[in-house]
Amino acid sequence: MAPDSEFANASFGKPDFDVVVVGSGFAGLYLLHKLRELGFSAKALEAAGDVGGTWYWNRYPGARCDIMSIDYSYSFDPDLETEWQWSEKYATQPEILRYLQHVAAKHDLRRDIAFETRVESATWDKDSSRWLIRTNRGAEITCRYYVMAAGCLSKPKEPEIEGCDCFRGEVYYTSRWPHRGVDFTAKRVAVIGTGSSGIQSIPLIAAQAKQLTVFQRTPNFSIPAHNGPIPTHRLADYERDRASYRERGRWSRFGVPVELSQIGAMQVSEDERRARYEAVWEAGELVGIGLAFNDIILNPKSNETLCEFIRGKIRTIVTNPETAEALCPTDHYVATKRACLDTNYYETYNLGHVRLVDLRKTPLARITETGIDTTIETFEFDAIVYATGFDAMTGPIVAVNITGRNGVTLRDRWAAGPLTYLGLMTTGFPNFFAVTGPGSPSVLSNMTVSIEQHVDWICNCLKDLRDENLEVIEPTATAEAGWVQHVNDCANITLFPTANSWYMGANVPGKPRVFLPYIGGTDAYRTACNEVVARGYLGFVRSGSGQRRVNDGVIRRLQPDVQMLLEAMSALNLPPLEEMSPEAARAFSSELSAVRPPGPEVGEIVDGVLPGAGGDLDYRLYRPATAGPHRVVVYFHGGGWVLGSHDSDDPFCRDLCVRSNAVFVSVNYRHAPEHCFPAAADDAFAAVRWIGDHLETLGGVPGPLVVCGWSAGGNLAAVVCQMARAAGGPNICGQVLVAPVTDCDFSRPSYTENGVDYVLTKPLMNWFWDHYADPANRTDPKASPLRANDLSGLPRALVVTAEFDPLRDEGAAYAEAMASAGVEVKHLPCRGQIHTSLTAVDMILSGAGARAEISAAIRQFFHQVEDLVMRDN
Ligand code: FAD
Ligand code: NAP
Repeated sequence: MAPDSEFANASFGKPDFDVVVVGSGFAGLYLLHKLRELGFSAKALEAAGDVGGTWYWNRYPGARCDIMSIDYSYSFDPDLETEWQWSEKYATQPEILRYLQHVAAKHDLRRDIAFETRVESATWDKDSSRWLIRTNRGAEITCRYYVMAAGCLSKPKEPEIEGCDCFRGEVYYTSRWPHRGVDFTAKRVAVIGTGSSGIQSIPLIAAQAKQLTVFQRTPNFSIPAHNGPIPTHRLADYERDRASYRERGRWSRFGVPVELSQIGAMQVSEDERRARYEAVWEAGELVGIGLAFNDIILNPKSNETLCEFIRGKIRTIVTNPETAEALCPTDHYVATKRACLDTNYYETYNLGHVRLVDLRKTPLARITETGIDTTIETFEFDAIVYATGFDAMTGPIVAVNITGRNGVTLRDRWAAGPLTYLGLMTTGFPNFFAVTGPGSPSVLSNMTVSIEQHVDWICNCLKDLRDENLEVIEPTATAEAGWVQHVNDCANITLFPTANSWYMGANVPGKPRVFLPYIGGTDAYRTACNEVVARGYLGFVRSGSGQRRVNDGVIRRLQPDVQMLLEAMSALNLPPLEEMSPEAARAFSSELSAVRPPGPEVGEIVDGVLPGAGGDLDYRLYRPATAGPHRVVVYFHGGGWVLGSHDSDDPFCRDLCVRSNAVFVSVNYRHAPEHCFPAAADDAFAAVRWIGDHLETLGGVPGPLVVCGWSAGGNLAAVVCQMARAAGGPNICGQVLVAPVTDCDFSRPSYTENGVDYVLTKPLMNWFWDHYADPANRTDPKASPLRANDLSGLPRALVVTAEFDPLRDEGAAYAEAMASAGVEVKHLPCRGQIHTSLTAVDMILSGAGARAEISAAIRQFFHQVEDLVMRDN
């Protein structure tokens, strides 16, 4: 953070404008309007000759929106909704441009815009708390606040092809199309690039040109737009109550008011899956993918079913099988690169004068004076069209030389990827805002909704500063780091990072590979932004007039899927377990278990019975599908010694069995209050002994075992290791304790911090202990293994703790105590997880990393044994 003096001693001069805005597209226009409405003086600087932004520049044939026009439009002016009628489902570029020109005229916005004025640099002057803006026209303008509404897709990418400048024919860029239009009649034309711009323009260029050759490096997934009148059901929904329609859009996942599917693609039959995909194909809407299934961008198997469906369509439409195959994407999951909407794209390749050149097979060598050379062929053209895309999201921002505190440039600060708080601001650059900046939903949403939300947030923020007699705002380093982490956490549970997309910066050579937008949803994002304000601008330092208000903190600390699960549970208003009888609680938790995803397939599952300390115990054995025999892990379920069974932890055991390639034997034990302490511990020990003696009968490798358990089961696994040490066997080579109970003491900070909101609560832990052990027994190491006088000589251990778990600190304390006693221990603290999330296979995807580490530790425990055996031999 900047030293205090930089805020406290600032002297506030009067700048030329309160706010300078860069850009006059959807964002810049609404900003000007809103700022004016709030009484701020503002000036917009625009490189183009008029308003429109994207829709000013991208005038190529076929350019249209790919979000329905009734959604892809402003909502801030209710009159606009009635005075402007969209002529089609997806309006053309000229119509959208006319719309923006209409808005500019209606609200008299042009008078505050300087056109053909490119901002080249912006420098923060800490002494006057002002930004100094320099333009290509030599002007110097000062302002208190500098807002870049410069667009996410406004800086064309260099084509980086050798010989680009040599070509003597006509050269066009889809992103800078001539205003006069282009006539390709009787011309031999090349198009390089098959993203959305290429896919929209190719059919129309083909309709004019004598000959069209498309140079494709990567095929994209495209579905037909079925453009025409706005679908009647949507129009009716919109016209019924426009205000509520818009409000639903604001609070939807992608900024479009449609109900997303609640079901995964692998949860339905193949016929139903196909029927849903046919419906997506017929609907001609990108959000249709989310309407079909809820896991297309999460689950590779689900995604592949849609990929194959689209490939099937391509093969049916395109008559030349070789061309069809070349058009089938195979290197990325659908939607991980922006999917396209087209009109007659694939059909165009059936025309005799259209040819596809697959650059994967015959790479582009160079542009020549007369055409294009690939590695095997020479082509001659009259015109070349580059549809090669943009340096997206960060490109337009760092194209301006922005210098913040202490002479640090934004280009340098973002050298390894953008760092923002909420995608709105960045530390070290006070009073600098970006509309739809990296780290916000932006390009993964209906942009008009995201733009309005950002503009509203920024303007309200400036108003709040003014109302509170403050002038400078800047995010704290902690808040920013927390948000960047959250953005990455969201991306990392999806398939997006697997693609070489412009979302990842992968299309621009040398650009850091970082997922740029926020995939948590426009609804979740809006909630976070609102919460930041409601909590007194959490994560910001605000200062002025001798005041300095620091409100440090992180807005989202839970893993995104954990947060969603908690919200879903809270909406269900489930009764607290501790208010039920043990029987009712058991029945309730069994009901919950029955509706979860089942976990992965294993090679074999065998149910059996083994002798416990007080009678027979049920067990369930999971065998990997690989050739055996396998090493054996004994597993104990969670449930506070009162609830649970091998059923309740079934998906977790399947998952660990597959990942660690070991047999898992999940043993039931006697439950309290019917059988109190030490029944469970004695059963667990008896089970481990019996299994140790019957390894070969169970199809296992003779030798040592690993014990593993979650929660109360983690407690039993720890206790068993201590009992085995005292008894001189059985031979245990590793213990895995997942969120274990290790102590009866509730005074550690994690009980205070996490005792209420995260499923396992302090009252519930009390209920468990009250049923399991009398207060007098609780300090016995067989109940509280942390209380053992000596922890030396225990098996190697992995202790896994969850950040938002009341048991976090006692787990960590046990790991520490064992390490102090000389035991080889690894402690795995799981950021953003709760007590129950690590075992929630296929529900909490962010827990998969921990499960992979647990399995790696199990393999490692066994390898160490095998290494010892080999050394001894
Ligand atoms: P822009 O419209 O990009 O405007 C930014 C303006 O800032 C530009 O006019 C630019 O000249 C100016 N500028 C930038 N840097 C400077 C500088 N240094 N100095 C002065 N001026 C500068 N999104 C959707 O949600 N749905 C769609 O259907 C859709 N279709 C699209 C189609 C195309 C062809 C493209 C390229 C993008 C599309 N997008 C779509 C994304 C689209 O960019 C946004 O929807 C929206 O138009 C962005 O508005 P904006 O005002 O934020 O930025
Ligand atoms: P894009 O999606 O990045 O596509 C660029 C294309 O050019 C890709 O096929 C790329 O291949 C190719 N390319 C780039 N450099 C190349 C090179 N040196 N040699 C050969 N091929 C090269 O860009 P875009 O089509 O302009 O679209 C960008 C975004 O704008 C879209 O994703 C969308 O968000 C928005 N958009 C929307 C619409 C709409 O339908 N409303 C229309 C246009 C744009 P690789 O994939 O191999 O890099």
